[in-house]
Amino acid sequence: MNTICRNVSVRLRYLTVFTTNSILRRGSSKKMTVEIDKEELKKRLTPLQWHVTQEKGTERPFSGCYNKFYEKGTYTCIICEQELFSSDTKYDSGCGWPAFNEVLDQGRVKLTKDTSHVGGNLLLLIANPDMVRTEVTCSKCGAHLGHVFNDGPKPTRKRFCINSASINFHAAGEEKKTTP
Ligand SMILES: [Zn+2]
Repeated sequence: MNTICRNVSVRLRYLTVFTTNSILRRGSSKKMTVEIDKEELKKRLTPLQWHVTQEKGTERPFSGCYNKFYEKGTYTCIICEQELFSSDTKYDSGCGWPAFNEVLDQGRVKLTKDTSHVGGNLLLLIANPDMVRTEVTCSKCGAHLGHVFNDGPKPTRKRFCINSASINFHAAGEEKKTTP
């Protein structure tokens, strides 16, 4: 079960990162700092990691390896290794996914209103404005991470509900290897 999280950092050296200008296939206003080679990425990720990060999927609740995991360290984006969350802000929300009270730095995530889960049912949304979710993606590579809600603990009241499949853990004090 834990193989999801174990195998990623060692394979990072194979990750091919291009600058935005070299490949801009999307051609949209969504300008990311890095553009990932999707073929390489598909080989590197497990099907679940691919589904969650690239197809905005959600892992099953209570199934992720970081759900009940409270070691000291830093969580990075599984795709581009940008540091996203600290274990200092991780808490047990009971929701079944890793929950954080804050991001390491606001600029490291992009927040987008997401109404996809109610389909085209606008009436439902009008009646229940709280149903509008806010999607959290990595600001550097655009990977889907999860959602943020406003029912977290003080001081921020935020609950960043993040898929284990989207993040990598680096223990505190561990030498973080850079690409050779
Ligand atoms: Zn990323």
